[in-house]
Amino acid sequence: MRLTELLKTNQVTISCELFPPKQGAQLENYKKTVADMAAVRPAYMSVTYGATGGTSDYTVELAKEVEKHHIPALAHLTCASSTKEKVASVIDELKANRIENILALRGDIPANADFPLPNQYKHASELIADIKAQGDFCIGGACYPEGHPEADTIFEDLDHLKEKVEAGCEFLTTQMFFDNHILYNFMYKALTKGIDVPVVAGIMPVTNKAQIKRIVSLSGNMVPPRFLAIVDRFGDNPAAMRQAGIAYATDQIIDLIANGVNHVHIYTMNKPDVAGEILDNLSEIYVRG
Ligand code: FAD
Repeated sequence: MRLTELLKTNQVTISCELFPPKQGAQLENYKKTVADMAAVRPAYMSVTYGATGGTSDYTVELAKEVEKHHIPALAHLTCASSTKEKVASVIDELKANRIENILALRGDIPANADFPLPNQYKHASELIADIKAQGDFCIGGACYPEGHPEADTIFEDLDHLKEKVEAGCEFLTTQMFFDNHILYNFMYKALTKGIDVPVVAGIMPVTNKAQIKRIVSLSGNMVPPRFLAIVDRFGDNPAAMRQAGIAYATDQIIDLIANGVNHVHIYTMNKPDVAGEILDNLSEIYVRG
């Protein structure tokens, strides 16, 4: 199923994210994670590509596994660490396995590398245009409510976001944010630029103290005082921090849906139990597929 069929309706959708194993030997355990996540019945599941520093060889494999559970898969595909030939071979693999949905990303530029080489894509917009030329895929892209760290201003970033949409990006998934007003402001600015494709709000349940430090150092996310108070009070009590992190994410999602943001993607980090508890908290709000 093409995700835009879901995302263009007013129906609430809640999706989850998985990351693939670094080594083939771990694949069977990861398939079990897919089954456990599928039991939670998210609207779709995305599978990252090389985001954890490992190889990208198992994204398609895991996306295939997701679809065996009759849940649409969204396969991420990044290009900064690949040649155009490698990207084309992954597109062929996706096509052969009837995976229709791709989240097309540049990826982080590898340190100490000449980038881009002549046979590489420089920006996600170039990748998106090429995927569109190579097959009948439903293509999504990333967006950054606080601005991408490389962009000088949010407006410059939005101009490039518009290029992605014009290149064929049919929906956007946001970077995580911890204050919903950041998303509402971003959506307003995006609309004024004419960016009117569905936006899926990315929510990260922070269930341990180490996670928040890593997130802030990697993405430069703004963490509101309300959230910092939770980490200060419960950070050294793992069970309490987990409970408070799930409650905070639940509260963010309820506020989003109450304000008309119907599509939420939970950065579940391969934790079906966390996804399950959030969806249990939303049992009257999100009708599971
Ligand atoms: P782009 O859209 O190319 O933008 C990157 C920067 O370049 C921005 O600052 C933009 O403003 C600028 N730019 C774009 N076009 C131009 C232009 N024409 N001229 C000048 N500047 C331009 N990473 C992984 O490795 N694997 C994953 O699976 C993964 N999944 C992600 C999922 C989501 C929802 C998000 C939000 C991020 C994900 N990432 C992943 C991280 C992502 O790869 C990085 O944030 C990366 O630095 C940017 O990728 P992009 O596709 O947004 O790049």
